[in-house]
Amino acid sequence: MYYEVAISRASQMKTHFCESSEDIDSGERVIIRLNGRKCKGYVIGRTEEPPPNSLNQIVERIDGYSFVDAALVETLVWAGRRYNSPIGRLFDIAVPKCIDRYAVSTVLPLSSFIGLEKMPLRSFISKYGEGHLKKLIQSGYVKIQRIPMAKEPHPRLQNESVELCVTLQEALHVVKDPIETQVANYLFINDEVYVDDIVRDLGVSKRVLSDLQKKGLIRIGPKVQRADEKNVLDDSLGFYLEQMKRDEILLLGSKSSGKTDLCIEMIRRTVQKGFSALYLVPEAMLVGQVSTRLKNVLGHLSVGIYHSYLSEARRAFQWIQAWKGKISVVVGTRSAVFCPLRNLGLIVIEHEEDESYYQYENPVYDAVEVARRRAKLSNARVVMVSTTPRLDHYKESLDGKIQQIELQERRKCSIRVLNTRKEKSFVAGDTMTFIRSTLKSGRGVIIVVRRKGYSPWIQCAVCGFIVECPKCDVSLSYHRDENVFKCHLCGYTEEASDKCPRCGAHALYPRGAGTERIEQHLKRRFASYELVRLDRDTVRHPQMVLEYLRKFERGEIDIIVGTKMITRGIDLNRAGLIVVMDFDGLLNVPDFTARFRTFRVLFQTVSESAGFESGTAVVQTYNPDNELLNHLVDLDVHGFYKEELAKRKEALYPPFTNIIQVILKARIASKGLEIVNFCSEKLRSAGEHILGPVEHPIFRIANEYRFHFLIKTDDVETSLKRLNEVLTESGKRGWKVLLNPPALI
Ligand SMILES: [Zn+2]
Ligand SMILES: [Zn+2]
Repeated sequence: MYYEVAISRASQMKTHFCESSEDIDSGERVIIRLNGRKCKGYVIGRTEEPPPNSLNQIVERIDGYSFVDAALVETLVWAGRRYNSPIGRLFDIAVPKCIDRYAVSTVLPLSSFIGLEKMPLRSFISKYGEGHLKKLIQSGYVKIQRIPMAKEPHPRLQNESVELCVTLQEALHVVKDPIETQVANYLFINDEVYVDDIVRDLGVSKRVLSDLQKKGLIRIGPKVQRADEKNVLDDSLGFYLEQMKRDEILLLGSKSSGKTDLCIEMIRRTVQKGFSALYLVPEAMLVGQVSTRLKNVLGHLSVGIYHSYLSEARRAFQWIQAWKGKISVVVGTRSAVFCPLRNLGLIVIEHEEDESYYQYENPVYDAVEVARRRAKLSNARVVMVSTTPRLDHYKESLDGKIQQIELQERRKCSIRVLNTRKEKSFVAGDTMTFIRSTLKSGRGVIIVVRRKGYSPWIQCAVCGFIVECPKCDVSLSYHRDENVFKCHLCGYTEEASDKCPRCGAHALYPRGAGTERIEQHLKRRFASYELVRLDRDTVRHPQMVLEYLRKFERGEIDIIVGTKMITRGIDLNRAGLIVVMDFDGLLNVPDFTARFRTFRVLFQTVSESAGFESGTAVVQTYNPDNELLNHLVDLDVHGFYKEELAKRKEALYPPFTNIIQVILKARIASKGLEIVNFCSEKLRSAGEHILGPVEHPIFRIANEYRFHFLIKTDDVETSLKRLNEVLTESGKRGWKVLLNPPALI
């Protein structure tokens, strides 16, 4: 039999054909000999026909069977070919290395003459030595048997659980010791922690924990079981369930529409029928909320979580639980789409429009499309949930390929667009009036600013010079807290000064307003109110945002100034006003997705994140005539989407065709240009439709120059094949190839 093998950690698309007399499953991990070296790989296909390419040898089967079912193998192979990503790299995500810690190898005697007992490999070696073992294997007296996952990661449930009894802020206020700080952060990030977890993952002693307990910061004891959540589904939601006929569903609805209740009920029914389910969310911050609700409905033991903030041991534990079928639901972020759940019946994708589902780094893949493919191959249903779905999915639902179901909105807010062209202050006069009256009525105010820092650029009042990063083609921002000029792309920092480097005048002034400036502006005017600023400078971990939002809900905070990161999380019923400022710049990006993405950000900010009752949303803008604002004021998603689709159709952009963005980074600009010209010309003469090449909008980042071009194609497979040939011919490595990225990066 001949096998096709994809190499682990490969940097290239190439797969290898091997021969073996053994019967090997698709998906199995094997060791093959390649150019004289041993490499780990995954069997991705088998055939009896001798392959045309040269043959390699499979020297070892690592596990003896496959951890991934046939549908997932096929999904991984599809994703690799579709997104031009090395298939072995995708398998590396699906079968993480950390599980190998739980395998047990045993030396098995094959003949009774040698008088040996079966014994663990490690004891055998320490008793008889490695040389002796090799000899015995060569003479056929013994063999090594490897049992994958013979050990459980840890006996978690007999263990005592640990949790914070105070907020993270309060804890960090009390503890000064770095180890204790680490424990507090760990407890905050992980939603369910047992003593063994901390001891193992952080390498701390149990005394650290008992000290923290004495200080009253943590609680150690048996896990408290929460009372079962009553799961009486609204009649109206039951109605929507009856309507779902197709395998692919686009569920339109905001947080207030009850969509999460609906999804949880769908999962409950799926599990009841004996299937498993996957619940994807865009951020680790949301995993805890969803999994807690699911645990209340399905019981503590059947729900697992999977995301990048998990420690290795916990990730291995969850993976093994899923693979063994001990949990039936996994809630996780992007990479959880490859989780080895058995008998998959349903995949829910919350915020399906979120760009974090697209992995821009190698291996590139689009987790939403991967989920759809996996569901299809597993005969499972996929439900994509969004207020502002992806344009391609919206189109597919209009074309009848996906069933669209729209939930009735329960709450609506009124939206005001303020023209700030003539305003002197960053916070418009009318906005101030709104803020004042909202605070007086006892409700809270949320202000979303696009950029962090004090001011996004610094300009000389005499000669007009704008201070730029010496390594990148962007202006430096002023951070008043630290009194520095900072580059948000490469992190370059210099001490702030008012002296112009060009004309020498002491006339450098901060221009524009970031979160810090708005914060200062409002702090002076609303001194008696509690105000916090939330952005990447003040919040060390995204989960901390949740804590502040809860404080806001409890009335302990009156005003939040922050970047977009604050607009997702929990329902904010106490918010009476949400203000969006400084979004105009989003529209000026040379990217065909700019208009669409701006609408989405605004719509989500004012409707989804707010979701508040009888509240007001204020949008400050220099372009009050922009037609997307009309759709926004009417909360008219369909109108905007249809208009946008018409525009895309006219200009022939996705979803009416496919875009492959090809990016090259080069240390020497002229050299990069030469190579990128060579490649695009070759493709053009081969009949490809090429836009560019051009310098990237931000040409230089950290002293690397970037060029890109776009391929418009209806036949992705052929175009990628041609592209790969040309890129190989160019002799240059490190290209980035992105199929239909959510934004041109
Ligand atoms: Zn100057
Ligand atoms: Zn820079």
